[in-house]
Amino acid sequence: MAKDNFVENIADIETDFPQWYTDVCKKTQLVDYGPVKGTMVIRPYGYAIWENIQKELDARFKATGHKNAYFPLLIPMSFMTKEAEHVEGFAPEVAVVTHAGGEELAEPLVVRPTSETIIGNMYSKWIQSYRDLPVLMNQWANVMRWEKTTRPFLRTSEFLWQEGHTAHATEEEAVEETMKMLGVYREFAENVLAIPVICGRKTEKEKFAGAVATYGMEAMMKDGKSLQSGTSHYLGQNFAKAFDIKFLDKDGVQKYAYTSSWGVSTRLIGALIMAHGDKRGLVLPPKVAPEQVVIVPIAAKKGGVIEACEEIKAQLENAGVRVVFDNTDNSPGWKFNEWEMKGVPLRIEVGPRDLEAGKVILFRRDTCEKCECLKDSVGATVISLLETVQKDMLESARVRRDERIVKAADMQGILAGVESGNFVKAGWCGCRECEDKIKEKTAASARVMLDELEDELCAVCGKKAVHTVYFARAY
Ligand code: ZN
Repeated sequence: MAKDNFVENIADIETDFPQWYTDVCKKTQLVDYGPVKGTMVIRPYGYAIWENIQKELDARFKATGHKNAYFPLLIPMSFMTKEAEHVEGFAPEVAVVTHAGGEELAEPLVVRPTSETIIGNMYSKWIQSYRDLPVLMNQWANVMRWEKTTRPFLRTSEFLWQEGHTAHATEEEAVEETMKMLGVYREFAENVLAIPVICGRKTEKEKFAGAVATYGMEAMMKDGKSLQSGTSHYLGQNFAKAFDIKFLDKDGVQKYAYTSSWGVSTRLIGALIMAHGDKRGLVLPPKVAPEQVVIVPIAAKKGGVIEACEEIKAQLENAGVRVVFDNTDNSPGWKFNEWEMKGVPLRIEVGPRDLEAGKVILFRRDTCEKCECLKDSVGATVISLLETVQKDMLESARVRRDERIVKAADMQGILAGVESGNFVKAGWCGCRECEDKIKEKTAASARVMLDELEDELCAVCGKKAVHTVYFARAY
């Protein structure tokens, strides 16, 4: 017989968060380590979450006018060196192919760490006139950024993502696109992942290599650390000039285009685990959960129980609910633990005594509360409860996060705030020295800058502040 207590196999979330994370990743079969250091295998349960993320995002990209395309994995080394900041930023982490087909290559090839260069090269061929603009494309792909350590979904050499790449006739349009896609990401994070995010501009130190401005969304994990969950870059004419993306404008003048790029990755699965998980394991929001409902029979051998389970399953499937009926010979207690660890939002317990009374029991994974429901109305009840769970998960994540945002007026305040697992809001003068000092003393980095100025003075040097910044330790 199988073990009856799964919970004991997961490290304690309160005292050993990193081990808890690793245990949840592996024991729920989201992911495994690949044979090459730094690589991960996304297993079917993890990949199903990614597919749900893709489905939701892809619909949003298309609704905002973007089309999908696919560009090659291999990029000529010479492309990477065309944009000075870009090559400097990515040089330490690129993997390079030097040999193929049994011989040394005339020009080494880079395994894409991101695709601005190769897409810029193609755009220069496709864009000739103002009539060719804007170009609004997205690609779903893998990228490679060499890592020496492995943290599933958070830090791996190869990961999956989408990268949007757009080209526009004017600066105004390109900036508008950059902000629009940041907004798409925010709406998606909140309404689909049930994760509240803080959006804002990145400092020069934290911005994307080659961008004029990077905007990011930051999510708070249950250990108080921040996870950068998506970025949108305004690239100005930097890549257009490096790759000669020029067009003949309406006024008969040749001009460089303005470009943007934006991306989210399988990191979002890490965000889901750490923003919602608890001591029992995963807690998944219904919109991305591979299974939204699990049906568990109690005293399955008693007459009518299996039939009732199958009937409920068919009814829910017809209503478009993702549902699994666990009819294995494990004990009900074992099944409860297993599916709770896997984060399935709702459980339906079907037992002979309740059935006689025309009822079943519903269990909510997010609150761990049980309630009774009439068997005849289980379809409608489940659908409305899934919506409630989705909303409540966002709301409770928001409450948790807001309780852990503090303000600080000096370095001590920043350190104390960060040490107790908070996001710290502080004034900043804008100089790199002060930013570096905070990093050195507190291990917190500037996550995003806000438009509104809440503090008059820089928390480090006491000079006039020009930004309010969220500081936090980050993944
Ligand atoms: Zn300062």
